[in-house]
Amino acid sequence: MKHLFFDLDNTLWDFDRNSKTVLQNLFKANNFEVKLGVDFEKFHSFYYEKNNELWHLYYFNKIKKEELRYRRFHDTFLNFGLNNLQLSKSIADDYVQISPYSKHLMPDCIEVLEHLVKDYHLHIITNGFAEVQNIKIDNCGLRNYFKQIIISEEHGLTKPNLEIFRLAEQLTNATSDKCMMIGDNWVSDIEGAIGAGWKAIYFGKTVPENNQQINVAVISDLIHLKKIL
Ligand SMILES: [Mg+2]
Repeated sequence: MKHLFFDLDNTLWDFDRNSKTVLQNLFKANNFEVKLGVDFEKFHSFYYEKNNELWHLYYFNKIKKEELRYRRFHDTFLNFGLNNLQLSKSIADDYVQISPYSKHLMPDCIEVLEHLVKDYHLHIITNGFAEVQNIKIDNCGLRNYFKQIIISEEHGLTKPNLEIFRLAEQLTNATSDKCMMIGDNWVSDIEGAIGAGWKAIYFGKTVPENNQQINVAVISDLIHLKKIL
């Protein structure tokens, strides 16, 4: 029996869509259009890049969770001329409280899991924060499909570090040749898995430049998994 390890955010749970909706509501409720002098789309595109940049630092232990949480807002506000650390922290708290209750999954997620669970052991490896990821998993009815749900924060290890993939093998009693990672993040999911000797399926549009020699399948929709697995 083979083991399929899924990433959670933007692989099963539609992080971008859910996050954008919550941010849009916070933006309106706090009248940021006036306070920052910017429309939501501009605010969001700066926040989006900043958030990715800070997550990247977090993966490599360069910043801590609390700093990541408020700095994505603080740096965005600063970019639009507002210097207010207290407000950044309170919006960061609101965002973390509200967003995990959003329910949009990636298209065809449940149909694909129903199909795969018949033939594979399914697991999750996610770099998110425990209190947030557990709410998402329960609230969207995902938990019962998965045998092991490995949340990086609970183990002090993040993808793409080799140790989290070795831990996943131990927890599932699987050897590396029986493991496959499916995820949307080239560095943390795909390079991490390949580095551990696993197979990988990249959920994205195209393989990033200079990585063509890496042997991975690429899917742009989850439903495609029904054909290739
Ligand atoms: Mg992801």
